[in-house]
Amino acid sequence: MQFAPTSFMLRITDLQLPLEHSDDELREAILQRLGIPAAALLHYTIFKRSSDARKKTAISFIYTLDIDVADEADVMRRLKNDRHVGKTPDTSYQFVAQAPAKLSTRPLVIGFGPCGIFAALILAQMGFRPIILERGKVVRERTKDTWGLWRKRDLKPESNVQFGEGGAGTFSDGKLYSQVKDPKHYGRKVLTEFVKADAPPEILYINKPHIGTFRLVKMVEQMRATIEELGGEFRFESKVESLDLKDGKVRGVSLANGEYLASDQVVLAIGHSARDTFQMLYDSGVYMEAKPFSIGFRIEHPQSIIDRARFGPYAGHPLLGAADYKLVHHCSNGRSVYSFCMCPGGTVVAATSEPNRVVTNGMSQYSRNERNANSGIVVGITPADYPGHPLAGIEFQRHWESRAFELGGGTYDAPGQLVGDFLANRASTEFGSVQPSYKPGVHLGNLDTALPDYAIAAIREAIPFFDKQIKGFSMADAVLTGVETRTSSPVRIRRRDDTLQSINTVGLYPAGEGAGYAGGIMSAAIDGIRVAEAVALSMTGDSPKV
Ligand code: FAD
Repeated sequence: MQFAPTSFMLRITDLQLPLEHSDDELREAILQRLGIPAAALLHYTIFKRSSDARKKTAISFIYTLDIDVADEADVMRRLKNDRHVGKTPDTSYQFVAQAPAKLSTRPLVIGFGPCGIFAALILAQMGFRPIILERGKVVRERTKDTWGLWRKRDLKPESNVQFGEGGAGTFSDGKLYSQVKDPKHYGRKVLTEFVKADAPPEILYINKPHIGTFRLVKMVEQMRATIEELGGEFRFESKVESLDLKDGKVRGVSLANGEYLASDQVVLAIGHSARDTFQMLYDSGVYMEAKPFSIGFRIEHPQSIIDRARFGPYAGHPLLGAADYKLVHHCSNGRSVYSFCMCPGGTVVAATSEPNRVVTNGMSQYSRNERNANSGIVVGITPADYPGHPLAGIEFQRHWESRAFELGGGTYDAPGQLVGDFLANRASTEFGSVQPSYKPGVHLGNLDTALPDYAIAAIREAIPFFDKQIKGFSMADAVLTGVETRTSSPVRIRRRDDTLQSINTVGLYPAGEGAGYAGGIMSAAIDGIRVAEAVALSMTGDSPKV
């Protein structure tokens, strides 16, 4: 099998083979599909491979393949009416600009999560030598601090699962898929750069790629080194504390240590948890509004139950890995409940960035071989649930995170309840067959008052419904922990569609998840690329091509 990139000419889509097949069988299927002899097939590479588990007794792989043949014109002529054979589209990334030899100003990138990483990388690749300002520490030191909360109940408000080099997705499952429209194939650029930074090469072709925490840490360091080699400069432990604005334009930023940096091009990639920075932006007059997000709990099941429900007799098959799920239920009270950030074979993590609050999320390693599957089970809410102020969603989150801290016993344990008890509305007193993975610990009780009534009612209705799709989902011993509040940003910092600059602050580029323009690693990274292009075009005086 060839994985080396060459100039492939033909693309076959929807080529289906049984789960267990050899490279020779794949090759033979290509020959048959194109009606060519073996000698005419020069190279092939897998562009995408997904599994089809709809029929559990006959799970198959479906391929999209790029193929180099001896006589492309002949194949195209013979198969011109075949919608599954065509020319391979060009998905390579094209830079929109090149920095002038003498830069009048250096762009600032605030935040080094996926959005800031890609904004900085693309700017650096175009020669703009960005300066990156990150409030948290370098990733190795940050890792120690993050584990400090999980192991010793010691929260560092500036260095934790949300803040620091790599951003919120560093301690995660590293799922790299997204449903954003991507006509310019920026997702491909993201994956290609991740592979250059030592991500497993198969993320380029498997349908739902993921990386896992340990690999992500190394990749983030590698990407920092690349940006530095290209002339970028990093300041860690450098929180941006105020903006210098004049006549509706940004002129620079001040850091918490008193330092001032001048620039009229500032990318704001601060993530969804920078609550103090949202407040500072609001107080400075940067336009923002409340936006919908979701709240709920994490649920943990034995991974084997999910594998059996999804893969039947193939459960545990090494080619399939740990199974995931995606669930949604529209409730009788008008709310929707859905699974969020499902982590197969992973752990539930403490994800607060503020003292005396409890927030859950999920992560995994590349191998996804922990005993439990976990997922957020969350309810959609809108500004009608927290009316009155653009930042009211933050106060709403804080209220329920503080409540979770209290229900957890005031020690950073998460409040928890067994699913059987939750459905029957009685307090849990001891664990059954499922041991929760959340560290530092889970404090059992009743989650009935851990979220607003409408959310509790919706989750109670949804869990038995989900059991119809994943048999065992409502098993009595499954464990709920809470609360899941950081599902996406509670605010949107509006920007213009053409220049991607704030609608009332020239030179400020709200970007990524915190600004309300992304949700997840991949979409935040893609937004970082878009914003880098907008900065480059603004700095070279070109018009954006939107
Ligand atoms: P962030 O990653 O939040 O980065 C923002 C950065 O800005 C932070 O590093 C922060 O320290 C910095 N910052 C904030 N304010 C300032 C300031 N004033 N000055 C300087 N720096 C500042 N998504 C997925 O797609 N797949 C997953 O598997 C997944 N798992 C997750 C697991 C966990 C535990 C968590 C917490 C999140 C997970 N996510 C996952 C979500 C994903 O991490 C985010 O969607 C993504 O990181 C958003 O990227 P971003 O760059 O917009 O913001």
